[in-house]
Amino acid sequence: MSAWTGSEVKTIGAAIAGALVARLIIGEFGWRDLVAVAFMTVVYPFGEWAIHVQLLHLKPFRWRGRTVELPTAAAHREHQEHPERLDLVNFSPREALAILCLAVPVTAAPLALVLPLGPVVSAVVTAYVLVGAYEWTHFLIHTAHRPRSRYYRSIWRNHRLHHFKNEHFWHGITNTLGDRALGTYKDQREVRRSETARTLQPD
Ligand SMILES: [Zn+2]
Ligand SMILES: [Zn+2]
Repeated sequence: MSAWTGSEVKTIGAAIAGALVARLIIGEFGWRDLVAVAFMTVVYPFGEWAIHVQLLHLKPFRWRGRTVELPTAAAHREHQEHPERLDLVNFSPREALAILCLAVPVTAAPLALVLPLGPVVSAVVTAYVLVGAYEWTHFLIHTAHRPRSRYYRSIWRNHRLHHFKNEHFWHGITNTLGDRALGTYKDQREVRRSETARTLQPD
């Protein structure tokens, strides 16, 4: 994992710029671009939730007689163990590339069945901007920066509860939509303090 460093900004910035240039070259903008942007904006919170729950919190599993831990899960466990270490907050270059080159195209691909290439690329641009927002927001939440706006306070609280109260709830970083829709947004008084919030070991 790396801090919110130059390389992180460069990788995501280059992805946004590249996709944007591709979109401009294709041309022919229209209402379908709005549909594509709306699609990605609606799907994104659930993607953020699913990656956090399914990939980052995946427990080590047995495979061919060996115990395997996904690199993403190992990195996230380290982050949960040391939430104060800013060098462990953001994705490693490899993780960032996997999201930009794999997760985003796979999510945008179904659009190609119903929309021309231009709007599909618009969806990719949208996703890259959202991934950039995710990385920046996650980093900011772990700094000493205090929330001032209501919205930022709500996501700041959400993520801190995930780290310090119970790791099975409050998975959203940039929003709480996924948590609210999928049952992991609770009044913190109703949730017991988890012994494993920092270690992510099985209870
Ligand atoms: Zn965190
Ligand atoms: Zn987590």
